Amino acid sequence: MEENRFDLIVIGGGPGGYSAAISAAKEGLSVLLFSGGAIGGTCLNEGCIPAKYLLDKAAALEKIRALTEKEIIREPGLFSFRKIQRGREEVIKKLTGGVAYLLKANNVKVIRGFASVREAGKAECGGKVYEAKDMIIATGSESMDIPIAGAEYTINSTQALALERVPKRLVIIGGGVIGMELASAYCAYGSEVTVLEALPELFPAEDERMISYLERELKKRGIRIRTGCKVKVIEKAGQSRRVFFEGEEPEEVYADAVILAAGRRAVCRGIDTQSLGLALTEKQEIAVDEHMQTSVPHIYAIGDVIGGYQLAHAAYAEGETAVAHILGKNGSEQKPGVQAVPRCIYTLPPCAAAGYTQAEAEHRGIATVRGEFPYSGNGMALAEGAEGLVQVIMDKETRTTVGVQIVGEGAPELLSFASLAVEKRMTAQEWQQFIVAHPSLSEMVKEAALDCFGKSVHGAVR
Ligand code: NAD
Repeated sequence: MEENRFDLIVIGGGPGGYSAAISAAKEGLSVLLFSGGAIGGTCLNEGCIPAKYLLDKAAALEKIRALTEKEIIREPGLFSFRKIQRGREEVIKKLTGGVAYLLKANNVKVIRGFASVREAGKAECGGKVYEAKDMIIATGSESMDIPIAGAEYTINSTQALALERVPKRLVIIGGGVIGMELASAYCAYGSEVTVLEALPELFPAEDERMISYLERELKKRGIRIRTGCKVKVIEKAGQSRRVFFEGEEPEEVYADAVILAAGRRAVCRGIDTQSLGLALTEKQEIAVDEHMQTSVPHIYAIGDVIGGYQLAHAAYAEGETAVAHILGKNGSEQKPGVQAVPRCIYTLPPCAAAGYTQAEAEHRGIATVRGEFPYSGNGMALAEGAEGLVQVIMDKETRTTVGVQIVGEGAPELLSFASLAVEKRMTAQEWQQFIVAHPSLSEMVKEAALDCFGKSVHGAVR
C-alpha cells in the first residue's frame, strides 16, 4: 500500500469516527483517521464524560446530605470544587489516552489535523494529499448560537463544564438535555439555578408522566424551571448578568453566569459540501440513506453531522452500518432497530427511555397496555434510598414490549436490558420466564412488564 493511499479515510475522531475506524481496521481495511480536535471528540472531552463526572460527584453530595438529614452521617461534608475539576481532567486524559492506544493497536493511522475535502476520495492536510476509495465524514456538531442580544455574555456547555468556581446564581437558557443535566449538577454544588425554556413544557417528545415526575423532583431540589419563556436580551450589570425574558409578561433575572444550551448544530469543517455536491437537509446536516451513504458515491456520513439523535451510541451504530456497507455486507444485521435507541437524561434523578411512549404507540395505531412499578415497592431501592418509577408499554394484541420509561436512580443502566426487550419485542410470557436477581433494581422492570397484564407479584392490586 502506498504511503498516502488507504482503503478508508475517516474524518473526525469523536465516538462515531474513531469507532468506525477501529471496526473497519478490524475487518482488514487500511484506515486513515483525521482528528482536528482532541481524540474522543465532544463526548469524551467536553460533553458526556465530563458531564457525568460532575454529576456523579453531585449525586454523591446529594446522598451525603440525605444521610445527614437522617442523622446517619453526623458531619455534613465540605467539598472541593477545584479537586472535582482536576478529577474530571484526569478521567478525560485517561479515556482519550485509551482511545489513542486502541487506534494505534488496531493499525489505524491517525493524523492530528483538520483535513479539507473538495473531491471524492481525496483529503488534503498539511500540504499533502491522501486518497481512499471510501470516506466517512464524522465531523460532529457545535453549540448553536441563537440571535439574542448580549449572547457574548453567555458561556456554552464546554465552558460550563470547566468552570473553576460554582456560580452563586446560575441562569440556563434551554431546558433540553444539556441544560437540565448542568442544572442538576450545579444545583447540587450550591448554585441557585433558574432554567428558562422557550417551549411550554420540558421534553415534549418523552412520556408525560415520567417528565412531570422528573420536573417535580428537580423543583424539590430547588431548581427554578420556567417554561414558555423566551430569552430576549442579556446585559452586563457590573459583575453580574441581567437576563430579560418574555413569558406571560416580560421579566428579568440576575445571574453570575449564564449558560446558553439552546441546541447543537452540525459542523462540516473542511468539507466543501458544494464542490462535492453533497445533499444537505433543511437544517444543513449531511443527508444520508439507511446505509449512511450520502448523495455522493463512496462518501458516508455518521454521527451529529447527520442530525437525528445526536447521541454517541447512535454514532457508534451508524459507523457500524457504514462500515458494513463499505465491506459489501447487506448491513441489515448491523442496523440497530431505531426504536430501541436508548434515550437517557442524566439529571438527578436520571431518566431513560427506549421505544415508544404510550402516546406515540397509540398515535401509530397500536392498542397498548401500560404496566408500572414504583421504586417504593422494591427492596433494593428502599435499601439505597432511591425513589422513582418504571413503566413498560406493551402491544395489547401481540402482548409484546414496545416501550420502557424509567425515572429514578440507575435508570440508564436499567435501560440496557429493557431496550433489548424492546428491540426483541419480548413477550409477556418471556418476561414471566425471565429471572432477575433479587434484590436488585432490575426487578422493577420485570414487575412493570408483568403489571401490563395484571401479573405483577409485588405491584399494587388493581
Ligand atoms: P436540545 O435541543 O435538546 O434543547 C435545547 C432547548 O433550548 C430546547 O428545548 C429549546 O426549546 C430551548 N431554547 C431554544 N432557544 C431558546 C430561547 N431563546 N430561550 C429559551 N429556550 C430556548 O439541545 P441541547 O440540550 O443543547 O442538546 C443538544 C444535543 O445533544 C441533543 O440532541 C441531545 O440529545 C444531545 N445530548 C444528549 C445527552 C444525553 O444523551 N444524556 C446529553 C447532552 C446532550
